[in-house]
Amino acid sequence: MAASQLPEFVNPRVLKINVGFILAESAGYQRVMQLDLPRVRLGGDLDLDYLRGDIRLSRNSRGIFVRSSLEAAVIGECVRCLELTHIPVRFELEELFVYPPSAEEPYSVEETGILDLGPLVREEAILAVPMVVLCRPDCAGLCPECGQNLNEGSCDCAQDTIDPRLAILRSMLGEDDGG
Ligand SMILES: [Zn+2]
Ligand SMILES: [Zn+2]
Repeated sequence: MAASQLPEFVNPRVLKINVGFILAESAGYQRVMQLDLPRVRLGGDLDLDYLRGDIRLSRNSRGIFVRSSLEAAVIGECVRCLELTHIPVRFELEELFVYPPSAEEPYSVEETGILDLGPLVREEAILAVPMVVLCRPDCAGLCPECGQNLNEGSCDCAQDTIDPRLAILRSMLGEDDGG
């Protein structure tokens, strides 16, 4: 992805939440945090244009349960014209972060009391992206001859191009006439 075209990213470290004060509480304690981030990069290939929503952190006997409903825009490439586009997504987080940390659990609060939401947000955001990404439903794509982005205007080859369905029809009719 051409990340160099994009303005600066927020350091993904902002998704590392210090939950030491929640760990110090007894089971049942809850805290809601608001997330409202501009552009953030979640590991190599996943960039979000924004990420926002409430995050509920609940202390229980095994660690901290994270429950959240988030909105984001994933920055991805349109499959037709290859331009970067924003893909609005919504996704939920519902995950236990065990404490003390355990290698047998998918998510742990670190020994230092840091809960890193980055990998979980990344996983859920990727799952929320549709299989086929289009910059807009009627994206005209690229000219197969010269590569012109047809959303920005037609190219010279467009004039000579015959609709392939018409071309087939014509050749079929031609054969019928001959036979
Ligand atoms: Zn497009
Ligand atoms: Zn062309």
